[in-house]
Amino acid sequence: QAVFQSDIGALLEQVGTGKESLSFMKRRMRRMAAQWASAARRLDDRLRSFWREQKRILVHVGFLTEESGDVFSPKVLKGGPLGEMVQWADILTALHVLGHDLKISFSLKELHGFLGVPPGRGSCPLTGPLPFDLIYTDYHGLQQMKQHMGLSLRKHKCHIRVIDTFGTEPAYNHEEYAILHGFRTNWGYWNLHGQQYMTMFPHTPDNSFMGFVAEELNETEKQNIQRNKVNNMAVVYGKEANMWKGKEKFLAILHRYMDIHGTVYYETQRPPEVPAFVKNHGLLPQQELQQLLRQAKLFIGFGFPYEGPAPLEAIANGCIFLQPKFNPPHSSLNHDFFRGKPTSRKVSSQHPYAEQYIGRPHVITIDFNNSEEFDATIREIMRINVEPFLPYEYTCEGMLERVHAYIQNQDFCSPEDPFPPLNSSWLSSPFVLLPNSSILTWASNGSSYASWPPLSALHLLASLEGESCVEACQGAELICEPALYRFINIKEAFSALELQCDGVESQMNHLFPAFSAEHAECGLQQDPLLFSCAGSSAKYQRLCPCRDYRIGQVALCRDCL
Ligand code: UDP
Repeated sequence: QAVFQSDIGALLEQVGTGKESLSFMKRRMRRMAAQWASAARRLDDRLRSFWREQKRILVHVGFLTEESGDVFSPKVLKGGPLGEMVQWADILTALHVLGHDLKISFSLKELHGFLGVPPGRGSCPLTGPLPFDLIYTDYHGLQQMKQHMGLSLRKHKCHIRVIDTFGTEPAYNHEEYAILHGFRTNWGYWNLHGQQYMTMFPHTPDNSFMGFVAEELNETEKQNIQRNKVNNMAVVYGKEANMWKGKEKFLAILHRYMDIHGTVYYETQRPPEVPAFVKNHGLLPQQELQQLLRQAKLFIGFGFPYEGPAPLEAIANGCIFLQPKFNPPHSSLNHDFFRGKPTSRKVSSQHPYAEQYIGRPHVITIDFNNSEEFDATIREIMRINVEPFLPYEYTCEGMLERVHAYIQNQDFCSPEDPFPPLNSSWLSSPFVLLPNSSILTWASNGSSYASWPPLSALHLLASLEGESCVEACQGAELICEPALYRFINIKEAFSALELQCDGVESQMNHLFPAFSAEHAECGLQQDPLLFSCAGSSAKYQRLCPCRDYRIGQVALCRDCL
Protein backbone atom coordinates (compact mmCIF):
# COMPACT_ATOMS: atom_id res chain seq x y z
CA GLN A 1 0.00 0.00 0.00
CA ALA A 2 1.38 3.43 -0.95
CA VAL A 3 1.19 6.05 1.78
CA PHE A 4 1.13 9.77 0.97
CA GLN A 5 4.36 11.52 2.02
CA SER A 6 4.31 15.23 2.69
CA ASP A 7 7.92 15.52 3.75
CA ILE A 8 10.17 16.09 0.75
CA GLY A 9 13.50 15.86 2.60
CA ALA A 10 14.34 12.43 1.21
CA LEU A 11 13.42 13.54 -2.29
CA LEU A 12 15.73 16.57 -2.16
CA GLU A 13 18.54 14.32 -1.04
CA GLN A 14 17.94 11.91 -3.92
CA VAL A 15 18.06 14.70 -6.49
CA GLY A 16 21.59 15.50 -5.38
CA THR A 17 23.76 18.47 -6.27
CA GLY A 18 26.38 19.69 -8.68
CA LYS A 19 24.38 21.15 -11.55
CA GLU A 20 22.39 24.32 -11.99
CA SER A 21 19.47 22.30 -13.39
CA LEU A 22 19.29 20.22 -10.21
CA SER A 23 19.48 23.33 -8.03
CA PHE A 24 16.63 24.90 -10.07
CA MET A 25 14.49 21.81 -9.54
CA LYS A 26 15.26 21.67 -5.84
CA ARG A 27 14.42 25.35 -5.35
CA ARG A 28 11.10 24.69 -7.04
CA MET A 29 10.44 21.59 -4.93
CA ARG A 30 11.09 23.51 -1.72
CA ARG A 31 8.98 26.47 -2.78
CA MET A 32 6.00 24.29 -3.69
CA ALA A 33 6.34 21.77 -0.83
CA ALA A 34 3.53 23.22 1.29
CA GLN A 35 1.12 23.21 -1.67
CA TRP A 36 1.92 19.60 -2.46
CA ALA A 37 1.44 18.65 1.18
CA SER A 38 -2.00 20.19 1.48
CA ALA A 39 -3.04 18.73 -1.89
CA ALA A 40 -1.87 15.31 -0.66
CA ARG A 41 -4.04 15.64 2.45
CA ARG A 42 -7.12 16.46 0.39
CA LEU A 43 -6.56 13.65 -2.09
CA ASP A 44 -5.78 11.22 0.71
CA ASP A 45 -9.18 12.01 2.25
CA ARG A 46 -10.91 11.39 -1.05
CA LEU A 47 -9.07 8.16 -1.84
CA ARG A 48 -9.29 6.58 1.61
CA SER A 49 -11.32 3.64 0.41
CA PHE A 50 -8.96 2.81 -2.49
CA TRP A 51 -6.09 0.39 -2.23
CA ARG A 52 -3.13 2.15 -3.82
CA GLU A 53 -0.41 -0.27 -4.68
CA GLN A 54 3.09 0.98 -3.99
CA LYS A 55 5.13 0.73 -7.21
CA ARG A 56 8.86 0.49 -7.66
CA ILE A 57 9.61 3.42 -9.95
CA LEU A 58 12.78 4.48 -11.71
CA VAL A 59 13.02 8.00 -13.12
CA HIS A 60 15.89 8.39 -15.59
CA VAL A 61 16.18 11.97 -16.81
CA GLY A 62 18.00 11.36 -20.09
CA PHE A 63 18.38 14.94 -21.33
CA LEU A 64 20.27 15.95 -18.18
CA THR A 65 22.88 13.18 -18.46
CA GLU A 66 26.40 14.14 -19.52
CA GLU A 67 26.23 11.33 -22.05
CA SER A 68 23.45 13.09 -23.96
CA GLY A 69 25.46 16.31 -23.98
CA ASP A 70 23.32 18.00 -21.32
CA VAL A 71 22.86 21.26 -23.19
CA PHE A 72 20.21 22.41 -20.72
CA SER A 73 22.05 22.72 -17.41
CA PRO A 74 24.48 25.46 -18.54
CA LYS A 75 21.51 27.49 -19.82
CA VAL A 76 19.42 27.47 -16.67
CA LEU A 77 20.75 30.86 -15.57
CA LYS A 78 20.91 32.19 -19.11
CA GLY A 79 17.31 32.17 -20.26
CA GLY A 80 17.41 28.71 -21.81
CA PRO A 81 14.31 26.51 -21.76
CA LEU A 82 13.11 25.91 -18.23
CA GLY A 83 9.76 24.28 -18.99
CA GLU A 84 11.27 20.80 -19.03
CA MET A 85 12.96 21.40 -15.70
CA VAL A 86 9.69 22.61 -14.22
CA GLN A 87 7.95 19.47 -15.46
CA TRP A 88 10.57 17.00 -14.23
CA ALA A 89 10.66 18.68 -10.82
CA ASP A 90 6.88 18.28 -10.59
CA ILE A 91 6.85 14.68 -11.85
CA LEU A 92 9.46 13.70 -9.25
CA THR A 93 7.52 15.48 -6.53
CA ALA A 94 4.21 13.92 -7.52
CA LEU A 95 5.66 10.39 -7.55
CA HIS A 96 7.34 10.98 -4.20
CA VAL A 97 4.26 12.51 -2.57
CA LEU A 98 2.08 9.64 -3.84
CA GLY A 99 4.33 7.42 -1.75
CA HIS A 100 5.97 5.20 -4.35
CA ASP A 101 9.36 3.60 -4.00
CA LEU A 102 11.35 6.02 -6.12
CA LYS A 103 14.85 5.85 -7.58
CA ILE A 104 16.25 8.77 -9.58
CA SER A 105 19.02 8.70 -12.13
CA PHE A 106 20.74 11.61 -13.88
CA SER A 107 23.63 9.62 -15.37
CA LEU A 108 24.34 6.40 -17.19
CA LYS A 109 26.29 5.16 -14.21
CA GLU A 110 23.30 5.55 -11.93
CA LEU A 111 21.04 3.97 -14.56
CA HIS A 112 23.31 0.93 -14.77
CA GLY A 113 23.44 0.65 -11.02
CA PHE A 114 19.67 0.71 -10.65
CA LEU A 115 19.02 -1.71 -13.49
CA GLY A 116 21.78 -4.06 -12.43
CA VAL A 117 23.48 -4.03 -15.84
CA PRO A 118 27.25 -4.14 -15.78
CA PRO A 119 28.81 -0.80 -16.75
CA GLY A 120 30.85 -0.46 -19.90
CA ARG A 121 30.30 0.02 -23.55
CA GLY A 122 28.08 -1.98 -25.79
CA SER A 123 24.82 -3.60 -25.07
CA CYS A 124 24.50 -5.70 -21.95
CA PRO A 125 21.22 -7.49 -21.71
CA LEU A 126 19.46 -7.42 -18.41
CA THR A 127 19.30 -11.08 -17.47
CA GLY A 128 17.07 -11.13 -14.41
CA PRO A 129 13.63 -9.63 -14.01
CA LEU A 130 13.27 -5.86 -14.28
CA PRO A 131 13.63 -4.48 -10.75
CA PHE A 132 11.00 -1.78 -11.44
CA ASP A 133 7.28 -1.67 -12.18
CA LEU A 134 7.58 1.63 -14.02
CA ILE A 135 10.37 3.60 -15.67
CA TYR A 136 9.83 7.26 -16.50
CA THR A 137 12.34 8.64 -18.98
CA ASP A 138 12.57 10.77 -22.14
CA TYR A 139 13.66 10.15 -25.73
CA HIS A 140 17.33 10.55 -24.78
CA GLY A 141 16.95 8.10 -21.92
CA LEU A 142 15.14 5.63 -24.16
CA GLN A 143 18.03 5.71 -26.62
CA GLN A 144 20.48 5.15 -23.78
CA MET A 145 18.51 2.21 -22.46
CA LYS A 146 18.42 0.70 -25.92
CA GLN A 147 22.19 1.01 -26.25
CA HIS A 148 22.85 -0.48 -22.86
CA MET A 149 20.08 -3.02 -22.39
CA GLY A 150 20.00 -4.22 -25.96
CA LEU A 151 17.27 -6.68 -26.77
CA SER A 152 16.09 -6.94 -23.20
CA LEU A 153 14.62 -3.45 -23.60
CA ARG A 154 12.03 -4.90 -25.95
CA LYS A 155 11.00 -7.41 -23.33
CA HIS A 156 10.54 -4.72 -20.69
CA LYS A 157 9.26 -1.82 -22.73
CA CYS A 158 5.67 -2.05 -21.54
CA HIS A 159 6.93 -0.65 -18.22
CA ILE A 160 8.34 2.48 -19.82
CA ARG A 161 6.74 5.93 -19.88
CA VAL A 162 8.30 8.58 -22.10
CA ILE A 163 8.01 12.21 -21.06
CA ASP A 164 7.59 13.87 -24.41
CA THR A 165 6.83 17.61 -24.37
CA PHE A 166 5.12 17.98 -27.75
CA GLY A 167 3.76 14.48 -28.25
CA THR A 168 4.18 11.52 -30.61
CA GLU A 169 1.37 10.41 -32.89
CA PRO A 170 0.83 6.70 -33.61
CA ALA A 171 1.73 6.98 -37.32
CA TYR A 172 5.22 8.19 -36.34
CA ASN A 173 5.63 5.70 -33.52
CA HIS A 174 4.98 2.59 -35.63
CA GLU A 175 8.32 1.72 -37.15
CA GLU A 176 7.23 -0.17 -40.24
CA TYR A 177 4.34 2.18 -40.99
CA ALA A 178 6.44 5.33 -40.48
CA ILE A 179 9.06 4.09 -42.92
CA LEU A 180 6.53 3.03 -45.55
CA HIS A 181 4.31 6.09 -45.37
CA GLY A 182 6.61 9.06 -44.87
CA PHE A 183 6.27 9.51 -41.10
CA ARG A 184 9.97 9.06 -40.38
CA THR A 185 11.58 11.44 -37.91
CA ASN A 186 14.63 11.45 -35.69
CA TRP A 187 12.51 10.62 -32.70
CA GLY A 188 9.66 8.28 -33.47
CA TYR A 189 9.28 4.61 -34.21
CA TRP A 190 9.78 2.96 -30.87
CA ASN A 191 6.64 0.87 -31.34
CA LEU A 192 5.37 1.82 -27.94
CA HIS A 193 1.73 2.12 -27.10
CA GLY A 194 0.72 5.73 -27.89
CA GLN A 195 -0.37 6.34 -24.32
CA GLN A 196 3.09 5.44 -23.02
CA TYR A 197 4.14 8.89 -24.25
CA MET A 198 3.21 11.55 -21.75
CA THR A 199 2.94 15.18 -22.78
CA MET A 200 3.17 18.56 -21.10
CA PHE A 201 -0.27 19.69 -22.23
CA PRO A 202 -3.21 17.55 -23.35
CA HIS A 203 -2.18 17.87 -27.00
CA THR A 204 -3.37 14.72 -28.69
CA PRO A 205 -5.36 12.20 -26.68
CA ASP A 206 -3.27 9.52 -28.43
CA ASN A 207 -0.75 10.28 -25.71
CA SER A 208 -1.28 10.50 -21.98
CA PHE A 209 -1.25 13.91 -20.37
CA MET A 210 1.38 14.25 -17.66
CA GLY A 211 1.45 18.04 -17.20
CA PHE A 212 3.03 20.02 -14.35
CA VAL A 213 1.70 22.43 -11.73
CA ALA A 214 1.41 26.15 -11.21
CA GLU A 215 1.07 27.96 -7.92
CA GLU A 216 -2.40 28.20 -6.42
CA LEU A 217 -3.67 31.19 -4.51
CA ASN A 218 -5.99 31.26 -1.54
CA GLU A 219 -8.96 33.63 -1.42
CA THR A 220 -7.11 36.35 0.53
CA GLU A 221 -4.19 36.27 -1.89
CA LYS A 222 -6.60 36.48 -4.81
CA GLN A 223 -8.30 39.53 -3.35
CA ASN A 224 -4.99 41.22 -2.61
CA ILE A 225 -3.80 40.60 -6.13
CA GLN A 226 -6.91 42.08 -7.63
CA ARG A 227 -6.65 45.11 -5.39
CA ASN A 228 -3.02 45.72 -6.32
CA LYS A 229 -3.20 45.17 -10.07
CA VAL A 230 -1.55 47.90 -12.09
CA ASN A 231 -3.88 48.48 -15.00
CA ASN A 232 -1.25 49.71 -17.43
CA MET A 233 1.49 47.22 -16.67
CA ALA A 234 2.45 44.56 -19.21
CA VAL A 235 5.03 41.77 -18.99
CA VAL A 236 6.39 40.33 -22.21
CA TYR A 237 6.67 36.52 -22.52
CA GLY A 238 10.17 35.66 -23.72
CA LYS A 239 13.36 35.40 -21.72
CA GLU A 240 15.70 35.19 -24.70
CA ALA A 241 16.50 38.33 -26.69
CA ASN A 242 15.85 36.67 -30.06
CA MET A 243 12.20 36.14 -29.07
CA TRP A 244 11.85 39.96 -29.30
CA LYS A 245 13.36 40.26 -32.76
CA GLY A 246 11.13 42.04 -35.29
CA LYS A 247 8.45 42.89 -32.71
CA GLU A 248 9.13 46.66 -32.62
CA LYS A 249 5.78 47.48 -34.23
CA PHE A 250 3.72 45.66 -31.57
CA LEU A 251 5.89 46.98 -28.77
CA ALA A 252 5.38 50.55 -30.04
CA ILE A 253 1.58 50.17 -30.07
CA LEU A 254 1.61 48.52 -26.67
CA HIS A 255 3.83 51.29 -25.32
CA ARG A 256 1.21 53.90 -26.27
CA TYR A 257 -0.94 52.55 -23.44
CA MET A 258 1.16 50.52 -21.08
CA ASP A 259 4.45 50.31 -19.21
CA ILE A 260 6.30 47.31 -20.55
CA HIS A 261 8.38 44.95 -18.45
CA GLY A 262 10.62 42.14 -19.65
CA THR A 263 12.68 39.35 -18.10
CA VAL A 264 15.28 38.94 -20.82
CA TYR A 265 18.59 37.40 -19.91
CA TYR A 266 21.69 39.50 -20.58
CA GLU A 267 25.29 39.34 -19.48
CA THR A 268 26.65 42.86 -19.40
CA GLN A 269 24.95 44.85 -22.13
CA ARG A 270 21.29 45.41 -22.65
CA PRO A 271 20.17 43.27 -25.60
CA PRO A 272 19.55 45.53 -28.65
CA GLU A 273 16.31 43.65 -29.45
CA VAL A 274 14.73 45.07 -26.29
CA PRO A 275 13.75 48.74 -26.82
CA ALA A 276 14.92 51.35 -24.32
CA PHE A 277 11.38 52.05 -23.10
CA VAL A 278 11.09 48.48 -21.77
CA LYS A 279 11.99 47.90 -18.15
CA ASN A 280 14.09 44.77 -18.39
CA HIS A 281 14.57 42.92 -15.10
CA GLY A 282 16.93 40.31 -16.51
CA LEU A 283 16.10 36.66 -15.94
CA LEU A 284 14.29 36.44 -12.61
CA PRO A 285 14.15 33.63 -10.08
CA GLN A 286 10.76 31.92 -10.40
CA GLN A 287 9.49 33.44 -7.19
CA GLU A 288 10.29 37.00 -8.28
CA LEU A 289 8.67 36.42 -11.64
CA GLN A 290 5.49 35.44 -9.76
CA GLN A 291 5.63 38.75 -7.86
CA LEU A 292 5.96 40.69 -11.10
CA LEU A 293 3.01 38.80 -12.61
CA ARG A 294 0.91 39.59 -9.55
CA GLN A 295 1.15 43.30 -10.33
CA ALA A 296 0.84 43.09 -14.10
CA LYS A 297 -2.45 43.27 -15.95
CA LEU A 298 -1.21 41.83 -19.21
CA PHE A 299 1.15 39.01 -20.13
CA ILE A 300 1.84 39.18 -23.83
CA GLY A 301 3.39 36.57 -26.12
CA PHE A 302 4.88 37.37 -29.52
CA GLY A 303 4.71 33.84 -30.93
CA PHE A 304 7.65 32.08 -29.27
CA PRO A 305 8.29 30.08 -27.09
CA TYR A 306 5.52 27.66 -27.87
CA GLU A 307 3.43 26.01 -25.20
CA GLY A 308 5.46 26.77 -22.07
CA PRO A 309 4.38 26.95 -18.42
CA ALA A 310 4.69 30.74 -18.07
CA PRO A 311 1.24 31.69 -19.51
CA LEU A 312 -0.47 29.41 -16.98
CA GLU A 313 1.52 31.05 -14.18
CA ALA A 314 0.51 34.48 -15.47
CA ILE A 315 -3.18 33.56 -15.67
CA ALA A 316 -2.98 32.00 -12.20
CA ASN A 317 -1.69 35.35 -10.98
CA GLY A 318 -4.56 37.28 -12.48
CA CYS A 319 -3.00 38.44 -15.77
CA ILE A 320 -4.75 38.39 -19.10
CA PHE A 321 -2.66 36.46 -21.60
CA LEU A 322 -2.68 38.02 -25.08
CA GLN A 323 -1.19 35.90 -27.85
CA PRO A 324 -1.05 35.68 -31.64
CA LYS A 325 -3.27 33.38 -33.63
CA PHE A 326 -1.34 31.39 -36.23
CA ASN A 327 -2.99 31.40 -39.61
CA PRO A 328 -2.07 29.03 -41.16
CA PRO A 329 -1.32 26.98 -38.06
CA HIS A 330 2.30 26.05 -37.38
CA SER A 331 3.25 22.40 -37.73
CA SER A 332 6.06 20.04 -38.63
CA LEU A 333 5.18 20.68 -42.27
CA ASN A 334 5.73 24.44 -42.28
CA HIS A 335 7.81 25.46 -39.27
CA ASP A 336 11.41 24.80 -38.38
CA PHE A 337 10.77 24.37 -34.69
CA PHE A 338 8.33 21.50 -35.24
CA ARG A 339 10.13 20.02 -38.25
CA GLY A 340 11.22 16.49 -37.44
CA LYS A 341 8.98 16.23 -34.39
CA PRO A 342 6.86 13.06 -34.48
CA THR A 343 3.52 14.81 -34.81
CA SER A 344 1.42 16.50 -37.51
CA ARG A 345 -0.44 18.50 -34.89
CA LYS A 346 -1.51 21.91 -36.11
CA VAL A 347 -0.59 24.56 -33.57
CA SER A 348 -3.24 27.27 -33.88
CA SER A 349 -1.60 29.86 -31.63
CA GLN A 350 1.42 30.31 -29.41
CA HIS A 351 -0.38 28.43 -26.64
CA PRO A 352 -3.29 26.32 -27.94
CA TYR A 353 -4.11 24.97 -24.47
CA ALA A 354 -4.63 28.52 -23.19
CA GLU A 355 -6.68 29.30 -26.30
CA GLN A 356 -8.88 26.21 -26.28
CA TYR A 357 -9.16 25.15 -22.65
CA ILE A 358 -9.11 28.53 -20.91
CA GLY A 359 -10.11 31.25 -23.40
CA ARG A 360 -11.69 34.62 -22.66
CA PRO A 361 -11.55 36.61 -20.49
CA HIS A 362 -8.24 35.13 -19.27
CA VAL A 363 -6.83 34.42 -22.71
CA ILE A 364 -7.26 36.51 -25.83
CA THR A 365 -6.00 35.13 -29.12
CA ILE A 366 -5.95 37.50 -32.08
CA ASP A 367 -4.30 38.20 -35.41
CA PHE A 368 -1.36 40.43 -34.46
CA ASN A 369 -0.96 41.61 -38.06
CA ASN A 370 -4.19 43.53 -37.77
CA SER A 371 -2.90 46.63 -35.99
CA GLU A 372 -6.34 48.07 -35.35
CA GLU A 373 -7.54 44.91 -33.67
CA PHE A 374 -4.32 44.73 -31.69
CA ASP A 375 -4.71 48.34 -30.55
CA ALA A 376 -8.37 47.89 -29.63
CA THR A 377 -7.60 44.70 -27.70
CA ILE A 378 -4.96 46.41 -25.56
CA ARG A 379 -7.49 49.10 -24.65
CA GLU A 380 -10.11 46.45 -23.89
CA ILE A 381 -7.68 44.60 -21.61
CA MET A 382 -7.09 47.75 -19.60
CA ARG A 383 -10.84 48.08 -19.04
CA ILE A 384 -11.76 44.56 -17.98
CA ASN A 385 -11.13 42.86 -14.65
CA VAL A 386 -10.32 39.20 -14.39
CA GLU A 387 -9.80 36.91 -11.44
CA PRO A 388 -6.75 34.69 -11.04
CA PHE A 389 -7.54 31.31 -12.58
CA LEU A 390 -5.84 27.92 -12.62
CA PRO A 391 -7.42 24.87 -14.27
CA TYR A 392 -7.77 22.02 -11.76
CA GLU A 393 -5.55 19.74 -13.86
CA TYR A 394 -2.62 22.14 -13.25
CA THR A 395 -3.07 22.27 -9.47
CA CYS A 396 -1.04 19.95 -7.21
CA GLU A 397 -4.18 18.01 -6.32
CA GLY A 398 -5.16 17.70 -9.98
CA MET A 399 -1.74 16.39 -10.96
CA LEU A 400 -1.63 13.94 -8.04
CA GLU A 401 -5.10 12.68 -8.93
CA ARG A 402 -4.19 12.16 -12.58
CA VAL A 403 -0.80 10.52 -11.96
CA HIS A 404 -2.39 8.29 -9.32
CA ALA A 405 -5.09 7.20 -11.79
CA TYR A 406 -2.52 6.43 -14.50
CA ILE A 407 -0.24 4.50 -12.16
CA GLN A 408 -3.02 2.35 -10.75
CA ASN A 409 -4.93 1.75 -14.00
CA GLN A 410 -2.81 2.02 -17.13
CA ASP A 411 -1.42 -1.38 -18.03
CA PHE A 412 0.49 -1.96 -21.25
CA CYS A 413 2.00 -5.27 -20.09
CA SER A 414 -0.93 -7.66 -19.69
CA PRO A 415 -2.22 -9.16 -22.88
CA GLU A 416 -5.49 -7.43 -23.68
CA ASP A 417 -8.64 -9.33 -22.93
CA PRO A 418 -9.85 -11.32 -25.85
CA PHE A 419 -12.33 -9.23 -27.73
CA PRO A 420 -15.87 -9.54 -26.34
CA PRO A 421 -17.80 -12.30 -28.09
CA LEU A 422 -19.68 -11.08 -31.13
CA ASN A 423 -23.23 -12.20 -31.09
CA SER A 424 -26.44 -10.56 -32.01
CA SER A 425 -27.80 -10.03 -28.52
CA TRP A 426 -24.55 -8.32 -27.56
CA LEU A 427 -24.93 -6.04 -30.52
CA SER A 428 -28.51 -5.05 -30.10
CA SER A 429 -28.29 -4.18 -26.45
CA PRO A 430 -25.04 -2.32 -26.03
CA PHE A 431 -25.72 0.21 -28.76
CA VAL A 432 -28.30 2.78 -27.90
CA LEU A 433 -29.07 5.38 -30.50
CA LEU A 434 -29.42 8.82 -28.99
CA PRO A 435 -32.34 10.73 -30.50
CA ASN A 436 -31.51 13.17 -33.30
CA SER A 437 -27.82 12.52 -33.39
CA SER A 438 -25.32 10.18 -34.86
CA ILE A 439 -23.81 9.60 -31.45
CA LEU A 440 -24.26 6.15 -30.09
CA THR A 441 -23.81 5.26 -26.51
CA TRP A 442 -22.45 1.85 -25.84
CA ALA A 443 -23.70 0.79 -22.49
CA SER A 444 -21.41 -1.70 -20.87
CA ASN A 445 -24.46 -3.87 -20.21
CA GLY A 446 -22.98 -5.16 -17.02
CA SER A 447 -20.16 -6.94 -18.78
CA SER A 448 -16.80 -7.31 -17.15
CA TYR A 449 -14.45 -6.53 -20.02
CA ALA A 450 -11.37 -5.21 -18.32
CA SER A 451 -10.92 -1.78 -19.70
CA TRP A 452 -9.68 1.54 -18.40
CA PRO A 453 -11.29 3.93 -19.06
CA PRO A 454 -14.33 1.70 -18.52
CA LEU A 455 -16.47 0.74 -21.46
CA SER A 456 -19.37 2.65 -19.92
CA ALA A 457 -17.62 5.90 -20.91
CA LEU A 458 -17.62 5.05 -24.61
CA HIS A 459 -19.62 7.05 -27.15
CA LEU A 460 -19.22 5.90 -30.71
CA LEU A 461 -19.23 8.56 -33.39
CA ALA A 462 -18.49 8.92 -37.09
CA SER A 463 -16.40 11.92 -38.08
CA LEU A 464 -17.15 14.03 -41.11
CA GLU A 465 -14.99 13.49 -44.16
CA GLY A 466 -11.71 15.35 -43.64
CA GLU A 467 -12.17 15.47 -39.89
CA SER A 468 -9.97 13.74 -37.31
CA CYS A 469 -11.34 11.92 -34.29
CA VAL A 470 -9.79 14.59 -32.08
CA GLU A 471 -12.05 17.14 -33.79
CA ALA A 472 -15.10 14.90 -34.11
CA CYS A 473 -15.17 14.09 -30.40
CA GLN A 474 -14.46 17.69 -29.47
CA GLY A 475 -17.44 18.75 -31.58
CA ALA A 476 -19.64 16.57 -29.38
CA GLU A 477 -18.04 17.94 -26.19
CA LEU A 478 -16.29 14.66 -25.66
CA ILE A 479 -12.70 13.53 -26.03
CA CYS A 480 -11.24 10.83 -28.25
CA GLU A 481 -10.07 7.84 -26.21
CA PRO A 482 -7.61 5.58 -28.03
CA ALA A 483 -7.82 2.88 -25.35
CA LEU A 484 -11.41 2.22 -26.48
CA TYR A 485 -10.64 1.78 -30.19
CA ARG A 486 -10.41 -1.97 -29.82
CA PHE A 487 -14.10 -2.13 -28.98
CA ILE A 488 -15.25 -0.29 -32.09
CA ASN A 489 -12.93 -1.88 -34.61
CA ILE A 490 -15.66 -4.25 -35.80
CA LYS A 491 -17.86 -4.23 -38.85
CA GLU A 492 -20.99 -4.06 -36.70
CA ALA A 493 -19.92 -0.58 -35.56
CA PHE A 494 -20.46 0.66 -39.12
CA SER A 495 -24.00 -0.66 -39.29
CA ALA A 496 -24.73 0.76 -35.86
CA LEU A 497 -23.83 4.15 -37.35
CA GLU A 498 -25.95 3.35 -40.43
CA LEU A 499 -22.93 3.28 -42.70
CA GLN A 500 -23.57 0.61 -45.34
CA CYS A 501 -20.49 -1.42 -46.23
CA ASP A 502 -20.35 -3.01 -49.70
CA GLY A 503 -16.97 -4.37 -48.77
CA VAL A 504 -14.90 -4.68 -45.62
CA GLU A 505 -11.11 -4.65 -45.69
CA SER A 506 -8.58 -4.87 -42.92
CA GLN A 507 -5.47 -2.75 -43.33
CA MET A 508 -2.60 -1.06 -41.56
CA ASN A 509 -3.77 2.52 -41.85
CA HIS A 510 -3.65 5.06 -39.04
CA LEU A 511 -7.04 6.44 -40.17
CA PHE A 512 -8.84 3.12 -39.75
CA PRO A 513 -11.46 2.11 -38.72
CA ALA A 514 -13.00 4.40 -41.33
CA PHE A 515 -15.70 4.54 -43.99
CA SER A 516 -15.18 5.59 -47.59
CA ALA A 517 -18.49 6.90 -48.92
CA GLU A 518 -17.28 6.96 -52.49
CA HIS A 519 -16.70 3.22 -52.62
CA ALA A 520 -19.02 2.22 -49.77
CA GLU A 521 -15.95 0.53 -48.31
CA CYS A 522 -15.47 -0.10 -44.63
CA GLY A 523 -11.88 -0.28 -43.40
CA LEU A 524 -10.85 -2.00 -40.18
CA GLN A 525 -7.57 -1.49 -38.39
CA GLN A 526 -5.17 -4.39 -38.62
CA ASP A 527 -2.60 -3.28 -36.06
CA PRO A 528 -3.76 -1.97 -32.66
CA LEU A 529 -0.55 0.11 -32.39
CA LEU A 530 -1.95 2.29 -35.17
CA PHE A 531 -5.20 3.21 -33.46
CA SER A 532 -4.98 6.99 -33.70
CA CYS A 533 -7.24 9.88 -32.72
CA ALA A 534 -5.10 12.22 -34.83
CA GLY A 535 -5.24 12.12 -38.59
CA SER A 536 -7.82 12.89 -41.24
CA SER A 537 -8.46 12.50 -44.93
CA ALA A 538 -11.07 13.94 -47.27
CA LYS A 539 -11.66 10.35 -48.44
CA TYR A 540 -12.75 8.98 -45.08
CA GLN A 541 -15.29 9.29 -42.37
CA ARG A 542 -13.46 7.95 -39.37
CA LEU A 543 -14.99 5.85 -36.60
CA CYS A 544 -14.22 7.51 -33.30
CA PRO A 545 -14.31 6.17 -29.74
CA CYS A 546 -15.15 9.27 -27.73
CA ARG A 547 -15.56 9.48 -23.96
CA ASP A 548 -16.76 11.95 -21.39
CA TYR A 549 -14.30 13.80 -19.17
CA ARG A 550 -14.20 15.56 -15.84
CA ILE A 551 -14.43 19.32 -15.94
CA GLY A 552 -10.91 20.60 -15.33
CA GLN A 553 -9.36 17.11 -15.64
CA VAL A 554 -9.62 16.11 -19.27
CA ALA A 555 -7.38 13.05 -18.81
CA LEU A 556 -10.00 11.29 -16.71
CA CYS A 557 -13.50 10.16 -17.55
CA ARG A 558 -16.26 10.56 -14.98
CA ASP A 559 -16.03 6.92 -13.87
CA CYS A 560 -12.24 6.73 -14.17
CA LEU A 561 -11.48 7.08 -10.47
N1 UDP B 1 10.90 31.77 -15.62
C1 UDP B 1 11.73 32.22 -14.62
N2 UDP B 1 12.26 33.47 -14.72
C2 UDP B 1 12.00 34.30 -15.75
C3 UDP B 1 11.16 33.82 -16.79
C4 UDP B 1 10.63 32.55 -16.68
O1 UDP B 1 11.97 31.51 -13.65
O2 UDP B 1 12.52 35.42 -15.76
C5 UDP B 1 10.31 30.42 -15.48
C6 UDP B 1 8.81 30.46 -15.44
O3 UDP B 1 8.37 30.63 -14.13
C7 UDP B 1 8.39 29.12 -16.03
C8 UDP B 1 9.65 28.59 -16.68
O4 UDP B 1 10.60 29.63 -16.58
O5 UDP B 1 7.97 28.22 -15.04
C9 UDP B 1 9.46 28.18 -18.11
O6 UDP B 1 9.00 29.24 -18.82
P1 UDP B 1 8.53 29.30 -20.33
O7 UDP B 1 7.04 29.29 -20.38
O8 UDP B 1 9.23 30.46 -20.92
O9 UDP B 1 8.95 27.94 -21.02
P2 UDP B 1 10.32 27.43 -21.66
O10 UDP B 1 10.36 27.98 -23.04
O11 UDP B 1 11.40 27.93 -20.79
O12 UDP B 1 10.21 25.95 -21.62
